[in-house]
Amino acid sequence: MRRAILWLCLLCLLLGGCVPQKAQPKHYTATFLTLFDTVTTIVGPAESEEAFQLTAQQIHDDLERYHQLFDIYKDYEGVVNLKAVNDSAGIAPVKVDPEIMQLLTDCKTYYDLTEGKVNVMLGSVLSLWHEARTDGIRDPINAKLPDPEALAAAAAHTDPDSLILDEAASTVYLSDPLSSLDVGAVAKGWACQRAAEAAPKGLLISVGGNVCATGPKTETGDPWVIGIQNPDGGDYLHTIYVHGGAVVTSGDYQRTYTVAGEKYHHIIDPETRMPSDYWRAVTVVCPDSALADALSTALFLLPLGEGQALLERCGAEALWVAKDGTEQMSPGFQEILRT
Ligand code: AMP
Ligand code: MG
Repeated sequence: MRRAILWLCLLCLLLGGCVPQKAQPKHYTATFLTLFDTVTTIVGPAESEEAFQLTAQQIHDDLERYHQLFDIYKDYEGVVNLKAVNDSAGIAPVKVDPEIMQLLTDCKTYYDLTEGKVNVMLGSVLSLWHEARTDGIRDPINAKLPDPEALAAAAAHTDPDSLILDEAASTVYLSDPLSSLDVGAVAKGWACQRAAEAAPKGLLISVGGNVCATGPKTETGDPWVIGIQNPDGGDYLHTIYVHGGAVVTSGDYQRTYTVAGEKYHHIIDPETRMPSDYWRAVTVVCPDSALADALSTALFLLPLGEGQALLERCGAEALWVAKDGTEQMSPGFQEILRT
């Protein structure tokens, strides 16, 4: 009898071994260097390299469209973008595509949500920083900060109410001729969210520091492992598990320049008009990539307590890295920590 049971077990094992397991499709990667001035990577499963390239190209084309629409520096043939809106400030309303309308409507929500910390009407102030940084990188010996008086004068033209959206007419009008839009704090995350919504499940889309998973890594529900950049460079600071949704980081190591031996970054406190001094980096995890992008910029501009309160209102999680390297994590962030 014992022998019979043993044989039965062996048979089961053998048969079990023969039951065909559903093979997981191979993962492929595509990289693009021309979108949002950063590196875009798309990773995911497909039946073949050709099938994956078709999917990746579709995502690229979606992102490219948003890139052109939200660009404030360049014109594109046949595209009415935010540069056209800025160029018409104080002159006339501009008829825009629905994506611009939706982005700017969302930006008004983010302004209210962050109590003015994330203000896309800060263009006049941000352009002075952009100019000083560009000049300073080109000619490091003569690098200068923007003139404080010019910054104060520019700040008088950042009223969010001078951004006038007319949904019925599909027009945007900047009623203050000296005001301008800069959607750098939210555009990548917003574009990533829209592209992800149109993409197949189970992909990872990374546009610079904005990462968006359209579902788990495998059909059996395994999570993606996402690396959080170390502000000092080198290995990842942490890795986290993500089944879907967005991971967005704002850091003092992006878009910097040096003046008299001191480094200055690109996230500007609307009250001081200077780079914010609270954190080295803030990473936000939440289902919506556009909100995650707005929140990462906002949390970077807020002390811990105010950031925590905002985070709780939005149902998101975060990691804060302080200037001395110490870290704070929201409870939900701790739970998805891998290393
Ligand atoms: P992020 O890397 O998402 O935190 O966005 C930073 C970018 O947002 C900068 O490069 C500016 O273009 C823009 N920006 C900086 N400070 C602000 C602010 N207080 N409100 C809105 N946009 C900002
Ligand atoms: Mg942001």
